[in-house]
Amino acid sequence: MSTALPKFTARTYDFTEYVPVRNWIGGAWSEAAGGGWLDIENPRHGKAMGRMTMSGAREVAAAVEAGQKAFPAWKATPMRERAQVLYRLKALMERDLEELCWLVSHENGKTYAEGKGDVEKGIECVELAASLHMMGAGEQLDVSRGVNCRVTHEPLGVVAGIVPFNFPVMVPLWMVPNALMAGNAFVLKPSHVVPYGAMKLAELLKEAGLPDGLFNVVNGEREAVEAIVDHPDVKAVGFVGSTKVAKILYARGAQHGKRMLCLGSAKNHVVVVPDADLELTSTNVIASSFGCAGQRCMASSLMVAVGDVQHIIDAMVKVAAKIQLGADMGSIINGPSVERITRYIDEAERRGAKVLLDGRGRNVGGAPGHWVGPTILDHVSIDMPAGCEEIFGPVLSIVRVPTLEAAIALQHRSLYANGAAIFTTSGAVARYASERLEAGMVGINVGVPVPREPFSFGGFNDSKFGHGDMTGWDGFRFWSRPRKVTEKWAAQSDASWMS
Ligand code: NAD
Repeated sequence: MSTALPKFTARTYDFTEYVPVRNWIGGAWSEAAGGGWLDIENPRHGKAMGRMTMSGAREVAAAVEAGQKAFPAWKATPMRERAQVLYRLKALMERDLEELCWLVSHENGKTYAEGKGDVEKGIECVELAASLHMMGAGEQLDVSRGVNCRVTHEPLGVVAGIVPFNFPVMVPLWMVPNALMAGNAFVLKPSHVVPYGAMKLAELLKEAGLPDGLFNVVNGEREAVEAIVDHPDVKAVGFVGSTKVAKILYARGAQHGKRMLCLGSAKNHVVVVPDADLELTSTNVIASSFGCAGQRCMASSLMVAVGDVQHIIDAMVKVAAKIQLGADMGSIINGPSVERITRYIDEAERRGAKVLLDGRGRNVGGAPGHWVGPTILDHVSIDMPAGCEEIFGPVLSIVRVPTLEAAIALQHRSLYANGAAIFTTSGAVARYASERLEAGMVGINVGVPVPREPFSFGGFNDSKFGHGDMTGWDGFRFWSRPRKVTEKWAAQSDASWMS
């Protein structure tokens, strides 16, 4: 089978079919033996744009074997040379930016602009990894007279990543560049809902000069994932997805003594106090809640309104009401998600929440596309499902509290602790809140406090299982192990106990 994919030619949202999704193993496309095919839907249109081969243990084993074959030569390749592949990958992603963005938009339902955000943040992760050899130089010290200690970062071997549907290019690139830069071979299991971005990455890495077998893609769902986590020669697994699956896989991998880092779900609280800037707050909170149709693990999904912030809520509703479904906001990933999101809104309304803006039943271009418009629920309480569970859709729930202390106490009751934010014009309030909000990533007047590289990404509590973060230096450390070499070349006349 040829290695070249035909270009994805769509340059509008019009429905466009694309090639079947195959596995990329050892530098060649292949189909799984006997696993069948899964339709891959374009969510905006609600119909299949292609189909995907479904893999199991046999395909995982083949990918791991390909990785093992390629690993020794890559391990022996200096980091500076590994970085050249990533420099070229960055240039190729920029060359094919438009194609990548439209591909992401079609498979995920995002707008083109949001697809661009996905790809550009992915490129930033490639940049970070390509500079690690510069940042990593010089970890050595004369620790005693005539004795030097230095650290080398050793690859682990074959490692793997399992990723969610909401960022088809960025989340794989949270892992792959750092893991390759550390000298590993990688097996990627894309989301079974959005596998095209990974296919394109495979082709670009090949063109960038990555030797065959160092990057492999195995498509499938639970069977493939379990085969990866159970495989004795997969030395580390990064997972990003729901807490339910993160928790299960973390425990399963740990049983095998495997290094696991599993990022899970979120319910990000945004605290708004009366002195908050009206325009900045209303536009930022709305952009955070409804960007990517709320299908972001950093979306502000629960606003904690402190005291009288009615004027800000009124402004937010006006901003959100102007969002054009289809043009400014994309679709929901699939039919079951639309049903789930609608259930949360129905249930909150039934239990006394006030629907300030109602996105239920909205559509673009008629069924069967999957849509929910921006929805704002006021007077939600945290014992309602909309107040404490992840909805993962365009729904902002507002809980009213009298004081900042009450807002922080309420945030502490959340299981999830990915992001949190405070909107205020007071430095003292900002500092007080940012020191107390229980979240891995805190924003001050920033609705989506995703740390740009080189700062690392990761939450607290049930939003992350495992040690360290997924990106930045932490990511590199996760995919490598430090070897400390202590050396002495001459007997010391002034030796101490350590010489
Ligand atoms: P998901 O957990 O359903 O799927 C994630 C991956 O696991 C996919 O590759 C999927 O094919 C696989 N999978 C699904 N069910 C499985 C099972 N039972 N056993 C083994 N593997 C299985 O998540 P999703 O719906 O693709 O993504 C949305 C979720 O991801 C949300 O909860 C969101 O908050 C979370 N997310 C978290 C972060 C973060 O950084 N914390 C980032 C992005 C998304």
